[in-house]
Amino acid sequence: MMKMRELINCVVPENLDEYRDVFVYIEHSDGHIKKSTLEMLGEGKKLAKKTDEKLVGVAVGEELTPIAKEAEEYGCDIFLGTESPDLKDFASVPYTNYLAEMIEDYKPNIFLMSGTREGRDLVSRIAIRVMTGVAADCIELDIVENTKILSAWRPSFGDKTIDQILCRKHRPQTITSRPGSYKVAEKQPGNKCDIKIKKVTVPEAMKKRKILSFRPKDRLDLTSAKKIVSGGLGLGKPEGFELIRNLADELNAEVGASRPVVDLGWIPYEHQVGQTGQTVRAKLYIAAGISGKIQHTVGMINSENIVSINNDPEAEIAKVSDYFIKADLYDAIPKIIEEVQKYKNGKAVVGESPEKAA
Ligand SMILES: Cc1cc2nc3c(=O)[nH]c(=O)nc-3n(C[C@H](O)[C@H](O)[C@H](O)COP(=O)(O)OP(=O)(O)OC[C@H]3O[C@@H](n4cnc5c(N)ncnc54)[C@H](O)[C@@H]3O)c2cc1C
Repeated sequence: MMKMRELINCVVPENLDEYRDVFVYIEHSDGHIKKSTLEMLGEGKKLAKKTDEKLVGVAVGEELTPIAKEAEEYGCDIFLGTESPDLKDFASVPYTNYLAEMIEDYKPNIFLMSGTREGRDLVSRIAIRVMTGVAADCIELDIVENTKILSAWRPSFGDKTIDQILCRKHRPQTITSRPGSYKVAEKQPGNKCDIKIKKVTVPEAMKKRKILSFRPKDRLDLTSAKKIVSGGLGLGKPEGFELIRNLADELNAEVGASRPVVDLGWIPYEHQVGQTGQTVRAKLYIAAGISGKIQHTVGMINSENIVSINNDPEAEIAKVSDYFIKADLYDAIPKIIEEVQKYKNGKAVVGESPEKAA
């Protein structure tokens, strides 16, 4: 029988009270903080208020002063940065090293990262280095009453259950978020932040890879879309997406999709919404020919206005919809397009202004 591997070097911190404040790892590109990080700054501020601690933004990069200023605007009390021309582009090894150093020196109570590719790459490496656990893909965060213990909620078993994860013995209490599941932080005019940026020379041994060039980003980012029109198996054929695209164009919206139509090759994966696709938080989400299985709705339920078009009045999507249109989508969508065009041309008799309606 295989012997259970012993967990060596697993040092439980003796004095958990030494650990203080809420760290948020700040991902940035082109001199700005990424939206997924702004979500974590909002959550970080909320948690820091509850634990009566400070919100600390931590970042690694080439030129961090503009990032620190933006972190100040979004409510950080302290900004810690490690800067070098060699840290211009993300690289797992040096980024892990400098972030782990910041954690070891400062001893934060909580450490929040976005569940982006970069965040997921870093979090496990950092957790091993500082010997803590990770709750990944969290969709809700809070503090257990009268404690400084983070309560992290994450979906499990194909999103059929939502589990609460507590990290009682190790610090920092570390999580990654599911991007798109939280509101972005509000700006805090007049906030003052203590900015500390350290310049370093990256040792040759850490420069394991050199980035020669970047291809322009072609991945559709549905998480930032304000309006989305999604199509599902109810379209019946790949050509059905032409109708979805027409409506999306009229509304100046992006195109989304359920998983089966992606699996069938009707539309690329980058359009998929749901558990194994993107999590969106649109102002308007139109679901056409989508039944509303939990693996889809978990990715769009936080949208402000959900409109579904389905010929089955019993479809589960009705339960999460603000407006349910019982109709064949091939009848309903051309009519909606016609109405939107009327509004745009100013011919609408009732309703709001064409701009607002669109
Ligand atoms: C581990 C796992 C992960 C998954 N991840 C995802 C994910 O990320 N995203 C996702 O979407 N799914 C995901 N799924 C699949 C999910 O369980 C469902 O199978 C899928 O969402 C169903 O897609 P659908 O609604 O397009 O198709 P269906 O469930 O077949 O629904 C089609 C709907 O269209 C309606 N319809 C048919 N014809 C018309 C018409 N002419 N006009 C109007 N309505 C019509 C029908 O009444 C029906 O409600 C996952 C499943 C698993 C097991």
